[in-house]
Formats: sequence, structure tokens, C-alpha cells
Amino acid sequence: MATDESAVLAASMISAGIPDVETFDTRAIQALDAAHFLHPFTDHAALRGKGARVIVRGQGVYVWDSDGHQLIDGMSGLWCVNVGYGRTTISQAVYRQMETLPFYNSFFNTTNVPAVQLAAELVALAPPQFSHVFFTGSGSEANDTVVRMVRRYWDIRGQPERQVIISRHNAYHGSTLAGVSLGGMAGMHAQGGLPVPGIRHIGQPNYAEHGQGLDENAFGLVAAGWLEDEILALGADKVAAFIGEPVQGAGGVIIPPPTYWPEVQRICDKYGVLLVADEVICGFGRLGAWFGSELLGMRPDLISFAKGVTSGYVPLGGVLVGKRVAYALVEQGGDFNHGFTYSGHPVACAAALENLRILRDERLVEKVALETGPHLKAAFQQLATHPLVGHAESCGMVAGLNLVRVKGATVHDCVPFERTLQVGMLCRGHMFGNGIIMRAVGDRMIVAPPLVMTKAEIDEMAARIWMCLDLTLADAQHRGWM
Ligand SMILES: *Cc1c(COP(=O)(O)O)cnc(C)c1O
Repeated sequence: MATDESAVLAASMISAGIPDVETFDTRAIQALDAAHFLHPFTDHAALRGKGARVIVRGQGVYVWDSDGHQLIDGMSGLWCVNVGYGRTTISQAVYRQMETLPFYNSFFNTTNVPAVQLAAELVALAPPQFSHVFFTGSGSEANDTVVRMVRRYWDIRGQPERQVIISRHNAYHGSTLAGVSLGGMAGMHAQGGLPVPGIRHIGQPNYAEHGQGLDENAFGLVAAGWLEDEILALGADKVAAFIGEPVQGAGGVIIPPPTYWPEVQRICDKYGVLLVADEVICGFGRLGAWFGSELLGMRPDLISFAKGVTSGYVPLGGVLVGKRVAYALVEQGGDFNHGFTYSGHPVACAAALENLRILRDERLVEKVALETGPHLKAAFQQLATHPLVGHAESCGMVAGLNLVRVKGATVHDCVPFERTLQVGMLCRGHMFGNGIIMRAVGDRMIVAPPLVMTKAEIDEMAARIWMCLDLTLADAQHRGWM
């Protein structure tokens, strides 16, 4: 707990601005943090014992903590700092916009220049079926907007009974009521009587988990078939839309078989169901294309985006709207009674415009497709030879590997650890302690590094991961887990 002196000391340091690592009192900040700051998705009693790690600075693909430790940020913050840290042209664009017009709303027949420019630019970048953009402040709000928009669409089209939205178990679509309900995270649904009605979940296309006895492509067709089963069970005239992440992120970097999305698209077309791609992670180059849906054979009606649109420098999200829905909303629907104070926030849009310029001028999307993505894939294939790793895969600049007790010839022959041992958290601890930020989703270790990460930095990251796998292996053996 914070003593009075440490609180006063910390307060004076905060008012003094950015901390100097030499004189910075980490303990004082940790005490204030524990006393007042409720973190997202955190067991606070457990955190208080160790104290939160205080991140104070970032440059390129690295961040530094208040003790001066340098860490490779293998997670781009939270899947978002795609152009890396320390981009002064973004801070300058934000500063200039704040000086000119820090805020104005677009509710009552007014608009602002950065929002207009960004909308036009996003439509130009998006696949040809897109014509409009609705801006929000986050990915969760984008998916809330999706729910309201698809139901409104079917109202306008004279089919108001098309209300149900189908999603997938283990999907992540955000943490607002609609976002968490669309998502398929059991732990989130267990708190607060969720999901809300009108949302159904089918299985995820996770070959390692459900594909036993099938080759990958055959499994992709089976998994897509679960959508058709659900549509037929509900009645197609009740189904508004299907939503999915092109590659599931928070669920553990689950890359679907190549047959999956084209078959889902065929099924959506067959029953007139709208297809929504949640590209909050996959958009803006993460997979080596501007949008993951283009790469994986989806032709969505709506795309939700956030995170990488500003590289996380300031919050922004939105929904790209395809012509079929846009026509109904714009030409037929009159008022759509939905919006946020910060829809089209000029400062956020100015940050996004500069971020997109960087992605384009530095050819980062092409680099991910042709150079760094393949390099990361090779690095993870190499990591897959480690005795603790069952299998590894990647797509563009996301990758995952599974920790297993006994390695097998195929993904289905590996023997996992006891779930309750939490070997992933053990491994994550070794990673953090040795200068590499990697996330654990169960026993799956994942990375989504900044798109600016060079081949040399990928090699450095992979070397640190290998070393931490060695440490985890020794630790697990020492604990008698294998
Ligand atoms: C992060 C995320 C969201 C939620 O975005 P927030 O900005 O945290 O509200 C939604 N969908 C996906 C796929 C995400 O990864």
C-alpha cells in the first residue's frame, strides 16, 4: 500500500513530466497504481503482490521500463503499434490539428477536413465494394455499430425478422456489451449474464483442436459447414449476418485453412446473409495485405477496424460500409439514430492520415508480404524444432507456437500439458524477464510485432524466444511437469 510519503513523491514526479530513469521511483508509481488504477482484464490482488511493470518509453520495436530494461515489443503494444514507436511525424500531425481544431462534432450537418480526407482514403484502400465509412472511438464501438447497422439494414429492406448474428466460439470482438456478446470468450460471458439475445456461436476453424483425421483443406470445408448448419437450424429468414476475424487474434492466432473463408463466402451468398470481417487486428498490413479479407478470399459487406489505423497513437475505430448496405442506409433509410461524440474526431483522423502515409511511403504492406512476413515464418518454423514446441505457424506479421509436454509427428500427435499448470504463463514470465514481450493464450505463445521490424530484429527476437523456451523447458522439468 502507498505510504503518504511515497504518494507525495510520486505525485511530484508525475507533475514533473516524463520520468528520468535515473531518479524515477518505480515503487511509488506501483503503489499509486495498485491504490487507484483498475486495469483491464486483471486480477488486482495478484498484481499488487508483484507490482505492475511501468513502461516509460518506446522507440522503433523496443520499449523500456522504469528500471531501464529494454524489451522487444513482440505484441506491438496490443496488436496496434504497426509503424513502431517514436514516429515524430504522427505527433506533429496531431499537434498541428490540435492547434487548428481540436474537436468538432459531425452530428448536425457539419463535418471536418481530416475526417473527410480519411474516409475518402480508406474507401480508396478498401476492396472495390466499399463506398462509405462510419467512425467510432474503438474496435468495440465499431462492432456495436455493426450490430446496429446490420439490423437497421434488414429493417430498411423490409425483413425486420432478420435479427440474429452468427459468430464463433473463442472469437474476440471487444468488451462492450455487444462486442463481448459477439465474441466467444467463455470467461467473459460468465460475468454479467452474457451474451445478449440474438447472437449465436459456432465452432472456430482451429485445425489443431478439431481437425483430427482430416487434411487441412477438408477440415476448412467442414468448419465452414457449421455456418450452414446454424443458418438452416435458425431459418435463413432470421439470420442478419455472420461476423469473423480473418485470422483470430486474441483467441490465439488461429489461421484458418485456405478453403474456409471462400466456402463461408459461398454460404453467405447462398442465403443472403451479410458477411462482416472484423479487421481490427488484420487490417492495415498485419497479414501482408491492406485488409486480411482480401488475402483470405472473403468479400465482406462490412469491415470493422481500429488498432492499426492509427498505430495506436490515439484511439480511433470505424466500420467500412459496402455498397449494398450503404445504399440502404444513405438512399432509403432516412435517419440512422446512432453515433458517438467522437465519431470522426479530427485529431484521431489526422493521426490516421499520417500513419497511412507512413505505411504507403515505406511500402510496409508489401514488405510484410514479400520480406519480413516470410522471414518471420522461417524463424517460427525453426522455433518449431525446439523440444517444447509442438507446432508453429504464421501469417504475415502474426505468429504462434504451441507448448507441448511431448512432441509428436503431427499436430494431432502431440501431448499437451495439464491445463491447470499454466505453462504458457510460466513461459511468458521467462520472456518478460529476458527482454521479449510475447503473449500467452493458454499454452499457445503468440507474437504480432510492429510491421517495421527488420529481418535482423526478427532474428534477434527469435534468438531471445529460443533462449526463453530453453529456460521454460528446464523450469518445467525441474517442477516435474514433464
Ligand atoms: C482489440 C479488438 C477489438 C476491440 O477493440 P477495442 O479498441 O479494444 O475496443 C475488436 N475486435 C478485434 C478483432 C480485436 O482484436
